[in-house]
Amino acid sequence: YEAKKSRNRVCMFQPELEGDYLYRMQIEHLLRGACRRGEICMNYQPQVDASGGLWGVEALVRWHSPELGFVPPDKFIPVAEQAGMINELGHFIIDESLRQIAEIQQQTGQSFSLSINVSVLQLAEAEFSRILLEKISQNGLGNVHIALEITENLLIEDIDRVCSILTVMNDAGVRISLDDFGTGYSSLSILRYLPLDEIKIDKSFVDHVIDDETAMRMVKNIIAIGRNYDVTILAEGVETRQQFDCLVESGCDFFQGYLFSRPLSAEHLLQYIRKTAERQ
Ligand code: C2E
Ligand code: MG
Ligand code: MG
Ligand code: MG
Repeated sequence: YEAKKSRNRVCMFQPELEGDYLYRMQIEHLLRGACRRGEICMNYQPQVDASGGLWGVEALVRWHSPELGFVPPDKFIPVAEQAGMINELGHFIIDESLRQIAEIQQQTGQSFSLSINVSVLQLAEAEFSRILLEKISQNGLGNVHIALEITENLLIEDIDRVCSILTVMNDAGVRISLDDFGTGYSSLSILRYLPLDEIKIDKSFVDHVIDDETAMRMVKNIIAIGRNYDVTILAEGVETRQQFDCLVESGCDFFQGYLFSRPLSAEHLLQYIRKTAERQ
């Protein structure tokens, strides 16, 4: 602790804590209206199969604030959740990614999967599923080409309600993907409750598949679990050829990471798809 004299008052504070608090306050203040001011856009990171062919893309939100510069989603999504702004932001994310991906699929004649990260709080909104299904069909995309990425961390509370909403979506053909698998607090029993089509192995395991026997064994176990529950396995954060080869050999279905591509703007995704189509 450190005593600080500011104007007329003396207060005790922890510098990092105060800095953190002010930063969050600033984010909350500036995030309001950021969509309207055109500061938010979407990037898309390709997801490939074992032969490197495009399987899908994950939509990742980006905020370029004139005041704060680039703010990563890890920083502002939690603030949006706590400040009650996630529904508005979530709708922007859904609208923008459905629109841009539908356009790219029309322009290239290729259809592929679009994964959208959704906060469990978004699912709490009345009629979330009806609205989403309506938006998907308005954009002319098939339900089977949409996946919702849910983080297991957030699932602990309210598992029954979340589960029933996801089941409605899943029955309509939308795929459900469990993000960051292996990092949360939830037990394996979550796999029994949730309607799941895909598990994403977290980057923290992928990082060490080459040099750490334990990480490798865990990846193999996750893949075996996936097989048992009849879900596909996607490895995220693949950065090297060795990691990729090792994951292919272990039986992973899909892959995402800087080795294949960084997250791209819609315009760069279009170029990426045209280039990969030329090569095939
Ligand atoms: P996530 O859903 O697990 O997304 C994967 C993150 O890993 C992304 O970071 C991506 O850019 C990064 N990544 C992918 N491949 C590599 C790699 O090879 N190396 C490294 N070092 N990183 C890689 P990003 O875009 O900063 O997103 C962070 C998190 O923020 C996401 O984790 C997700 O939880 C959340 N997020 C991002 N966009 C959205 C969104 O539209 N809605 C919601 N609710 N959350 C989002
Ligand atoms: Mg994700
Ligand atoms: Mg993830
Ligand atoms: Mg992750």
